[in-house]
Formats: sequence, structure tokens, C-alpha cells
Amino acid sequence: MKQIDGIPFNINTYILGRITLRGKNIFNRKDEILVKTDVKNISSGYAATITNHKINSESKYCIVDDNKFNEFNEGDVVLINNKGEIIFLYETKSLHNAIFATERCNHRCIMCPQPPVVQEEDKTQFNLKLISLIDKQAQELGITGGEPTLIGDKLFELIKQIQKYQPKAGISLLSNGVKFADKSYAMKLAMCKHHDIQIDVPIFSDIAEIHNRIVGANTFYKTVQGLYNLAIFHLRIGLRIVVHKLTYQRLPQLADYIYHNFPFVSQVAFLQMETTGYANTNLDNLWIDPYDYNEELKQAVLLLSNRGICTRIYNAQLCVLPIEIREYAVCSISDWKDSYLPECNECLLRNQCGGLFESNQKHHSKYIKPILEDNKANACVE
Ligand code: SF4
Repeated sequence: MKQIDGIPFNINTYILGRITLRGKNIFNRKDEILVKTDVKNISSGYAATITNHKINSESKYCIVDDNKFNEFNEGDVVLINNKGEIIFLYETKSLHNAIFATERCNHRCIMCPQPPVVQEEDKTQFNLKLISLIDKQAQELGITGGEPTLIGDKLFELIKQIQKYQPKAGISLLSNGVKFADKSYAMKLAMCKHHDIQIDVPIFSDIAEIHNRIVGANTFYKTVQGLYNLAIFHLRIGLRIVVHKLTYQRLPQLADYIYHNFPFVSQVAFLQMETTGYANTNLDNLWIDPYDYNEELKQAVLLLSNRGICTRIYNAQLCVLPIEIREYAVCSISDWKDSYLPECNECLLRNQCGGLFESNQKHHSKYIKPILEDNKANACVE
């Protein structure tokens, strides 16, 4: 998440609030954080103020550098902690906002970019408050983790809160699917009757042992059962496959397996690996230059797409992909993690290419090079 480091004054615990640059009338300030330079006195009623200089006041405020003020937008939701860290939990200008239901997980994926914690305080009340502060016009919200289903039925409270406060928003629920092997749990999700929810489930192989080795748990058949239960209740399902040294060789077989066993899925996405967290720790076992799995990726993508299954490629660089499958690439990297190389500046596809993870600056394909000739086959989906 995007973060700005400031200097806190009178902030002893955390403050969760919505950013206002315009200011609010006195009756509507308690959840707002005023962002304003050169204030003389702190206006009363705000949850906190973010400014650029020290003020003689006992109110809660935080100083940030002048050059940081353009990072704030009206309606962003931030958490300010007692160290003065301003963490952006919702950004109005981002298409990749998500609620972190929990940092716990029942898998230990070998390439997990965000290693789970073993214990934590329940975040549900915090998240319910967070959702209540998010823009009512939001079009898309993710629910992620950790593994969101580990909070049990509280997950449905989050979904209902989104229905209440962001009635137009679609939800992408990122889950390993294991919990949905319990049919009654899948039914409860269906009973939420959300108008636009997709459950995105990772699957890494058509062979149970390989999948289990990657996720660090014997759960392949539970995930499979979970997918069938979600399908029984007509819930929309996406499948996700992170491509690395342990998955790339069987991509065509996995695609075939998906086609024959899960023809009901709405989308299959192939993801280039983010080299942070466990992926970085286990890099020697996982890293393969994305260029070197192009043949397997192409076969898998075309196999699914030619059979009518919506197929996407996430986190890939257009110049590394074969032309035949560039049209499946989506600009999918969250804004705060997204980056480009200096050579991208002269690339004709700079505006259509999703770039690469900031954390992949050290480990990226050596075949990244600017595309200097226009080619109609190059379009990125979003
Ligand atoms: S050179 Fe950069 S912008 Fe161009 S396609 Fe490659 S990664 Fe994308």
C-alpha cells in the first residue's frame, strides 16, 4: 500500500479517516482528515490535520513534506499511526483497492508475496469502519488476505457492508477455495446475493502433488470441491495461475484440465510472479525468465481462448510476450507497485503496457526492450 512518512503530534493511537482537501462543514468532520498547507490554527472537529509545519496546538496533526501534498486526493481513506506513517487504505484514483480481511492463511505458498502471520487481532470491526468511509460511487473493491475465508461468517458481514455503502461496486474475492469445500459455507456466500462478485481461486497444477507442494498443504481436492460447490450456487469463478519454474512446464496440461473439469469458470488468468516475500526467499527454486516460458504460456492461453474461456495474462510486459498472445495482457499491477525501466520511455506501447512490479526491478526478463514499430497486435486489454 502507498505510504507517506510524516511527523505525528498528539497522535497516540491510530486514526482512520477520509481525506478532505476542500474541508467540510462543522457537522461532518469527525471522520475527515483535513489536508492543508500553511494552516495558522487547527480547525476543530476533524479526526486529524495533515499540514507542512509545526503548530502550537494540542490537536492531532501530522507534518509531511511540501512535495507530498499532491499524493492526496479528496476521498482517499488513510490510517495515520503514532509513528506518523500515513497508509493509504483506499485511493479514489486507483482501480486496485482491496480490503485485507486477515493476514492469516491456511496455505504457505512457496511464492507468496505477502507472507501470512500466525496470530492477529480480528480486523473485522476496523474493516467495517473502513468500508463505511469509502466513496459510495466506488466501482470495484477486492477482498483479500491472507485467506479471507479464515474469518468465517464475518466475511459475509464485509460483503454486506460493501453492498450497503458501495452499492455499485463489484467485488473480487481472492480465496484459495478450500473453505468452500464446505457446501454450507458456499451457500452462505450465495445467500449474500451480491450482484457482481467473482471468487478468484489460484490453482497451480493438474497434478495434486505438485499443487500441494506449491501451496504447502494437502488441499488440492478441497479446492477442487470448493470450485464445484461455488459453481452449484452459480457464483462467478476466476482461476489464477502464477507462472514460475514449478508451474510453467505443465501449463498446457493444466489448461486442458481446466477446460475439461471446470468449464463453468468465467475467467482464467496467468500471472507473472512478483519477486517479493517468499518468492524472493525461494527465488533460486522459482525464477525463470518469463521469455523462456512463452511457448508453454502461448499454448495454454490459446487452448483456453480457442475453446471459449475468457483468458487473461497479468503482470506481463508486452515486449516479452509473443505477438500472438499480447492481446490477452491486462494492465493489472496496482499503481503503488507498478514501475517501468528507463528503456520503456522510448517504447511505443508504454501507455498500453502494464510495466513490472517495483519489486521485480532486480529480477526481470532480460528480453525487455522498447517496441519501436507500431503493431496492431499489441493492444493491452485494460
Ligand atoms: S519496453 Fe517497457 S513499456 Fe515497452 S513493452 Fe517492454 S516493458 Fe512494456
